[in-house]
Amino acid sequence: MYPTKVDRQQNFKALKKVKKQNLPVKICTVCNRPFTWRKKWKKNWDEVKYCSKRCSKKQMMCCSLR
Ligand SMILES: [Zn+2]
Repeated sequence: MYPTKVDRQQNFKALKKVKKQNLPVKICTVCNRPFTWRKKWKKNWDEVKYCSKRCSKKQMMCCSLR
């Protein structure tokens, strides 16, 4: 009994899924939606508060209006 090629592919897919689920998640302070860790935030993940540039801009605009 040897594992088939399909079996191996399925195993690989399952591993990938688990890895993705283990990524840290934060809630965007502007749109209140969860966003997952991205490579570009590797260095400053602790400081990341917004899911996108758009949201960070929105927050800046909101603050400058006050
Ligand atoms: Zn957002």
